[in-house]
Amino acid sequence: AVRVRFAPSPTGFLHLGGLRTASYNYLFARSRNGRFILRIEDTDQTRMVEGAVEQLQNDLKWCGIRVHEGPEIGGSFGPYIQSQRLEFYRHHAKTLLKNGSAYYCFCTERRLELLRIEALRARELPKYDNRCRNLSPEEARGKVSQGVPFCVRFKITPGLGSFTDLIYGDISYDVSANEGDPVIMKSDGFPTYHFANVVDDHLMQISHVLRGVEWQISTTKHLMLYRAFNWKPPQFGHLPLLMNSDGLKLSKRQGDIKISHYKESGIFPLALINFIANSGGGFAKDSTRNVKPKCYTIPELTQQFDISRVNAHSGKYMPERLLEFNRLELKRKLENEEEEDDLVEDVREMVRNHFPGHSLDLKSEHIKNILHWSVNRITKLADLLSDDLKFIWISPIRQKLSDEDQSYLTQFIEDLKKQDVLQKDDLNHFFRQFSEDHELKFGNFMKTLRSVLSGLKEGPSVAEMVEILGKKNTIHRLQLSIK
Ligand code: GLU
Repeated sequence: AVRVRFAPSPTGFLHLGGLRTASYNYLFARSRNGRFILRIEDTDQTRMVEGAVEQLQNDLKWCGIRVHEGPEIGGSFGPYIQSQRLEFYRHHAKTLLKNGSAYYCFCTERRLELLRIEALRARELPKYDNRCRNLSPEEARGKVSQGVPFCVRFKITPGLGSFTDLIYGDISYDVSANEGDPVIMKSDGFPTYHFANVVDDHLMQISHVLRGVEWQISTTKHLMLYRAFNWKPPQFGHLPLLMNSDGLKLSKRQGDIKISHYKESGIFPLALINFIANSGGGFAKDSTRNVKPKCYTIPELTQQFDISRVNAHSGKYMPERLLEFNRLELKRKLENEEEEDDLVEDVREMVRNHFPGHSLDLKSEHIKNILHWSVNRITKLADLLSDDLKFIWISPIRQKLSDEDQSYLTQFIEDLKKQDVLQKDDLNHFFRQFSEDHELKFGNFMKTLRSVLSGLKEGPSVAEMVEILGKKNTIHRLQLSIK
C-alpha cells in the first residue's frame, strides 16, 4: 500500500516550497489509493515557532489537502508529533548501540569546537574525528554510569553509497568523505532529524519519500540507518528547488511566499495548486490542456499525476502566471452553481465592507451578472473595487450638466424605459438612433453618458456599462444627474 508523508518542522509558516512538497505527496497518494500522513518534526526545540503547527494545518486545509493521518485526526501509527515519540527513538538507539552500529560519544562541546577551528586553519572540511568509536564497551558503560554527559553517534560506512531516485535517477554520494559519524541522539535525550526521520518512516510504514532536493545528499546516510536496523527502506524521490525568475532559490524569508499571504491577497487555493503543478511538471497532458489553459480540480490533477513526469530541473517562479491561474479558477468556479453562489456571497460581503454607508445593489442576480461579465477583466475579486470598476457599485460624484444635456437626458430616460432588451448590441443601435433623432454629436453624447454613469473618461464601452448596471440602476443614475 502506498503511504507517504509530509514532514515539516514547525520552524516557520507554510511557504510555496512546502506546499509543493505537500501537494505532490497528496496527489501521489490519491493517485495510488494511498494514504497521506502529516508528521510534525519538532525535535529541534530551539527552532520552534509558536503557533506554527496550527497554522500549518489550517493552511493545508485551506489548500484542499486532506490529511488521512496526523496530529489532528490521529491514526493507528501515532503520535504524529515527534516530541511525543521520544521513547521510540531511545528504544531504537539502544538497538543500534547493542548491534554495534552506534556508540556513546563523550566529547565535550569544547573539544568539538577545537576540532572545527583546527580544520578551518588547515582549510579542511570540519568533521568529527570519530574518536569515541575506539572506546571499549566497558569504558563507555563506566562513563555513562558515572553520569558523564554523552550523545549517541552512528557509525558511517566509508565509501560510495548509491540509490535510484524516482525523479533524478541514479545518485551516488560518499558520506564519510564529507562528515564524521553523525549524532543520532543528542545529550538532551532528543533524537536528531536524520534518526527520528528514519525511525518514523519505518514505524509509520512509509512506502515513498517525496521531499525537497536539499535532502538528497542525506539519503545515502538514511539508507545506512535502514541497513543497520535490517529494515526495508522506502523509495526516495526528490523534488527540485523552486527558483525565482532570476535563478535564485526561493527563500522562506521572502514574506510574499507564505501561503497565508496568498490567501489574504485574494488568491484561490486551487489557483495556487495549479500554479505549482505547472511549475514542476508531473502531470500527463490532458487533450484539452494545449487548446485552452484551465484550472484543474484536485480529482482531475490526481488523475493526471504521474511521478515519472516530474521534472528534475528547477521550476521557475513566475508570479504573473499565478494571476492568470487565479482568473482561470474564477472562471471555473462560475461554471459550478454551488461555487458560484459562494463567490456571490464573498463579493457581497467584500463590497458591503468596502463601501459603508452607500446604497448598494447587492442582489444575487446582479452580482452574478457582474461576475460573468468581469471574468476576462479581473484576476482577483478585489479588482472589482478598483478605480475603473468601482462605478459598478456606487454612483459617481454628481456633475453639473448644461440645460441642453439635461433636457435630452430627460427624453433619453423615457426612451430607455421602453427598451426591453438591454444587450450591448441592441443598446449601441439604440444610442445611435437616439443621437440621430435628436441631432446630437454621437461622441459627445457618449462622453456625457459615460461620465454620468461612471465618472470615468475611459473604460468599458457605454453599452457595456448600461448592460452591467442594469436598467434600474442606469435610470436611477441618469435621474440623479438631472435633478
Ligand atoms: N523535517 C524535514 C523538513 O522540514 C523533513 C524532510 C523530509 O521530508 O525528510 O523539511
